[in-house]
Amino acid sequence: MLQAVFTHLSSNSGLLEAAERSRRIENIKAVNPNGSGPDAVRNRVCFADVAGPNCGRQTIRGLVRSFDHFIVTSDWWHQAVGWASIADGVNGGDVDMPDTVSNTSITDGDIQTFLAAKVTSGALPAPDSQTLYVLYYPSTTSISSGSGSSCVSFGGYHSSTQVPLEGGVQQVAYAVLPRCDDYGDAPDNYAELTYSASHEIIEAATDAWPGVQPAYLLGDYDAWEPSAYGGGGGYIEIADACWVPNQVGQYDETGYNVCQAWSNGAAAASRDPCQPQLDPTEKYFGAAPRTQLLDLGGGHMSYGYLVVPAGKSVEVILDVFSEAALAHDFLLYVGKDTGAADPSNVGPIGDSITANLSRQQVHNGNGVIMTLSAPTDAVPGKFQFQIRSVLDSATWHAWPLYAWVK
Ligand SMILES: [Zn+2]
Repeated sequence: MLQAVFTHLSSNSGLLEAAERSRRIENIKAVNPNGSGPDAVRNRVCFADVAGPNCGRQTIRGLVRSFDHFIVTSDWWHQAVGWASIADGVNGGDVDMPDTVSNTSITDGDIQTFLAAKVTSGALPAPDSQTLYVLYYPSTTSISSGSGSSCVSFGGYHSSTQVPLEGGVQQVAYAVLPRCDDYGDAPDNYAELTYSASHEIIEAATDAWPGVQPAYLLGDYDAWEPSAYGGGGGYIEIADACWVPNQVGQYDETGYNVCQAWSNGAAAASRDPCQPQLDPTEKYFGAAPRTQLLDLGGGHMSYGYLVVPAGKSVEVILDVFSEAALAHDFLLYVGKDTGAADPSNVGPIGDSITANLSRQQVHNGNGVIMTLSAPTDAVPGKFQFQIRSVLDSATWHAWPLYAWVK
């Protein structure tokens, strides 16, 4: 079962100091220590497509069946959720449903109604707290949920709903996978489908009932939120935390395209928090600012901000770390992501805020003082920027932070 207990993390890297710091800042939290939910992909449902008796094209049907069964016991699974003591999933079987959805537009509410009806009728196997229904829809079904429309604003999502069961109700997790054509940055539709499915399945396993019993979320380091999610005050799940543009197609698990997910265990060991690593030989390194846990209002706490009053300067210590010895020192750059290929090419932080470092060339164990200054006419606001650690033009990592002008 899902153990949402926040496991004590210890460093095995020999870089305890750096590990302590990355751990303090980077953790995905177990919001509800008694959270429970599926650790297993027990059941999946395919809607028949107009094109055939089964789940659309036979190849897609075969693909999703073998994918779902394989992925929950894979190396990828172990690397992505091993730190959270999430067990392997088990095969819950496959169900083909009569096609009532091709060439229709449905809502998330329709899906919840459908699940309740099909559990009641016995068309779907009865769920328990460990069940995740993964629903794969035909390409001609348009799905809308609170976050927008399928294949336009999302490639999948997961949620939970109550279904009637044995005179009571059972909260059950489900994931919705539309079948998109040429969606986002996917190299092909198969890669997009398994990538999105892996994202929703791994998040459902760690945050099964997000609306009623949230589990593992990154909620106290806003600056790590991908800009695609808006940043600032949200609560992102383990795959969201490692979402970057153009990631689809980058990590392959035995022939299936899958996502990366945040690992507290890796972060605690000063390794790349996004696992599995795209390059297994990569030695992770970076510079972590020592920030305070601040109240952003409404009880929302975050380590991701450094307050700089207008007309003032503030200093913050950056702890430089690497998980293993590197070929040479690396260089620090501070500024805003401009999307430039050259990692040393960062833009101004904004609001005329300036950053100065006590040293630029660093290695593991160094402490660097960063001084942020805001002019007297700085406009109050929050300005996201990065502390980049650059070994060479292709080998670098960014630590995000907000300057908060008050
Ligand atoms: Zn997500």
